[in-house]
Amino acid sequence: MDKILCGVDIGGTKLSTALVKQDGTLIDKCIDCDHVDKAECELIDQIVYNIKKLLKKNSLQETDLLGIGIGCAGHIRFRDGVIITTSNLKGYKDYPLREAVQANFRVPVILDNDANAQAYGEFKFGNGKGYESMVFLTISTGIGAGIIINNRMYRGMTGTAGEFGHTIVEPESPLTCTCGNRGCLMAVACGMALPHLYRQKIAKGMISKLDLPKDFDMSKIDGKLLKQGLDIGDTVSKEIILESGRYVGIGIYNIFQALNPPLVVLGGGLMSWGDPYLAMIKSTFYAYARDMIFDPFKITVSTIGPDVGVIGAASLVLET
Ligand SMILES: [Zn+2]
Repeated sequence: MDKILCGVDIGGTKLSTALVKQDGTLIDKCIDCDHVDKAECELIDQIVYNIKKLLKKNSLQETDLLGIGIGCAGHIRFRDGVIITTSNLKGYKDYPLREAVQANFRVPVILDNDANAQAYGEFKFGNGKGYESMVFLTISTGIGAGIIINNRMYRGMTGTAGEFGHTIVEPESPLTCTCGNRGCLMAVACGMALPHLYRQKIAKGMISKLDLPKDFDMSKIDGKLLKQGLDIGDTVSKEIILESGRYVGIGIYNIFQALNPPLVVLGGGLMSWGDPYLAMIKSTFYAYARDMIFDPFKITVSTIGPDVGVIGAASLVLET
């Protein structure tokens, strides 16, 4: 039997663990939602426990594993397996997570940024199959990305390459990013911008068809709500969605000029906005790129589905 992969995705709400075949097929998974407030050592115990529990449940042993890949949001110093900073968990500053997990297993443990993990998963098992180079962009509360060049992840000097969410697209924007700068792509285009954009439209006198209670907490305006708005023909929701699409299109144009990849794959919760969103992203990109595309170039949407985080984490094992 081919050895199998283990993936762990440390998210802001879910801690997912999965066993995955080398072709990307999910064998089994478990999801916890109580990890966020745990101290570092408790989280390590939980990760180790989940992996061992899944192995046992599937009558497998550690020797059946090729390795363990872990994806975590934040800045990761890849070669050392250290979390430099993460906004998903409290603490964990300069925390050597890979070493702490590795102490419990003999098979190799790899730690990378969650967007890099998803990008590699997409490259191995998704729409990136057959390509040598691609860029993956995940658009949800924030914007993350991963770069694959000539069949390898490109991680840069520290491991933080591909932070396109922090590239600045609107320096005079009133919207401040989590990094402190104004007008980062993720500050103006994704989940974290939606409450501001909604308030702005209402303040301008636009009337939304969304039936929100009078005392509705506007900070709760999210992608799902705007999708409902889009479906009932609400102009406020539609304008915000198209505005986001325009900025993402500009972001992809900048990526295209910097890296000239043949493929950009889009994933993340906001892609559920569907065709009008994707059409705006593409039309903005092509309007800027005009006649500067000299070979086949494609923008497409991830088809791996909701398990992309944990399947991506598992795929990291295949990189070496
Ligand atoms: Zn930023």
